[in-house]
Amino acid sequence: MFEFLFPKKCIFCGKIGKYKFYNVCKSCYGKIEFCSDYECCTRCGTPQISMGEEKLCYDCMTRTYFPCKRIASVGAYRNDFRNCILRFKNGKTSYGKTLAYFMSRRAYEVYREIDFDIVVPVPFDKERQNSRGYSSSHILGKEISRLTKIPFEGKGLKKIKKTPKQTSLKHKERIENLVDAFKGYEDKVKGKTVLLVDDVCTTGSTLRECARALKRAGAKTVYGITAGTTVRFGEKINK
Ligand SMILES: [Zn+2]
Ligand SMILES: [Zn+2]
Repeated sequence: MFEFLFPKKCIFCGKIGKYKFYNVCKSCYGKIEFCSDYECCTRCGTPQISMGEEKLCYDCMTRTYFPCKRIASVGAYRNDFRNCILRFKNGKTSYGKTLAYFMSRRAYEVYREIDFDIVVPVPFDKERQNSRGYSSSHILGKEISRLTKIPFEGKGLKKIKKTPKQTSLKHKERIENLVDAFKGYEDKVKGKTVLLVDDVCTTGSTLRECARALKRAGAKTVYGITAGTTVRFGEKINK
């Protein structure tokens, strides 16, 4: 109903209009590098050169432990899409509706066969939550739960170790930084198939450590969904 009464602002360029894909104008929609348009690694979900029968990227081929069975993302974390996610993280919480809509759509594409029990957001340190105590992944998780009808579980995971911001660290430090930083809660996650939500997947270490904590607490299987994902190899992504 409100859609007809109030014209919307495109969350990328600010242009006012009536938009089909939530609040994104046609021109900005066309500029998003959707992962669904590219071949992606079947484990970490990044659009890049995939190898072998399993279509894994180099990083995933050389890794042996996968607490997060698979990660899927909406689009390449660069240019306008990256700026939009950064604005969302820095206070434009209304963008969460659009991003969560894209994430739900992507989750449906990749995880169609999977029967999820709960949606769990990646937890953050207290100072990175907004005044109401919500982190960006909490907002996305709530909205994804509303759209997909998978119950939301905001207390399945907790951050138990204060860590420096991931973005301030190098690749290797990022991985070490998060070891044992999260705790899963057995009474909330035991035996459950979990859709783990974060805004961005850069090295995948956050999702991996969260999934590890969930599995330790007895979660059956953990799958990740994020809005942005880093394109690691070069500027171009292979179609
Ligand atoms: Zn626009
Ligand atoms: Zn991979």
